Amino acid sequence: MPSRRLPSLAARILGAVLVLAAVPAPAATAAAPPGPGAPTVRAGEVMPHLRALQEIADRNGGNRAHGTQGYTDSVTYVRKALDRAGFHTELRRFSHAGATGYNLIADWPGGDPKHVLFTGAHLDSVKEGPGINDNGSGAAAVLTTALRVADAGLKPTRHLRFAWWGAEEEGLVGSADYVRSLSAADRKAIDVYLNLDQAGSKNVRQWLVVHDDAHHETEAQRAFEAWFADRGLSTFDIGVGGSDHESFGNAGIPSSGFSTGISDCLHNACDNLANVDPETEATSTNALLGVVWKLAATARN
Ligand SMILES: [Zn+2]
Repeated sequence: MPSRRLPSLAARILGAVLVLAAVPAPAATAAAPPGPGAPTVRAGEVMPHLRALQEIADRNGGNRAHGTQGYTDSVTYVRKALDRAGFHTELRRFSHAGATGYNLIADWPGGDPKHVLFTGAHLDSVKEGPGINDNGSGAAAVLTTALRVADAGLKPTRHLRFAWWGAEEEGLVGSADYVRSLSAADRKAIDVYLNLDQAGSKNVRQWLVVHDDAHHETEAQRAFEAWFADRGLSTFDIGVGGSDHESFGNAGIPSSGFSTGISDCLHNACDNLANVDPETEATSTNALLGVVWKLAATARN
């Protein structure tokens, strides 16, 4: 969530939170059979990525913000893991506030290039803190999902693309730059973009699923809602806005995704490893795995 433009996402989430107060806290990791074929992970598989991002921030002045070594090291960490796993990765540079920013794009070989399932999360933090829930949690869930695609040697019907955005906290700068660079045909080829921003909040009561009314996007939204409902986890619809899916929405590209809500440590030094609930992080990662697996296997006419 961009600190420079606080916050339509914050407003949407705060509105949702007020509604949610009365909802009893669900069991965060209700064990349920995985969707057909979708793997599941435990916290122990995702949390090491968050620990690595925390260590990167610790050795770079406490943050991983745009234009800093902390952000560059974060990109290097994610890219190395993807290259090892067989992804085709690409760094897309952009310039903002006198510094070079980077978007990391990763394509999994195969699938119909005219029907792209695109999943992303911002990787940068604010300058004030390490950004482990905002948004190391989303970045780690997307990375874990991508690595599981590689582990499974997935042969999707749709083409799978993943992204880690830069300078989101500066106002969705990286994702907006990327979407601007797309041709009309490239944009048309994206069936849906899935965004994760803050996926490990503590004391989560409901998962806030993005509802893209403007583009009549229901396939992904319903897939997320069904995944959570199957596990007795309640959801709440929030509109498109306040994070990188807004850049796609502005270009007429359908989007969905979810958030676990903002924490008290939002944009603060205390948004560190202790600010993420490992079980919530595991549940969020499994939700993304379940939906990516489902949509990857689905053809859209
Ligand atoms: Zn964020």
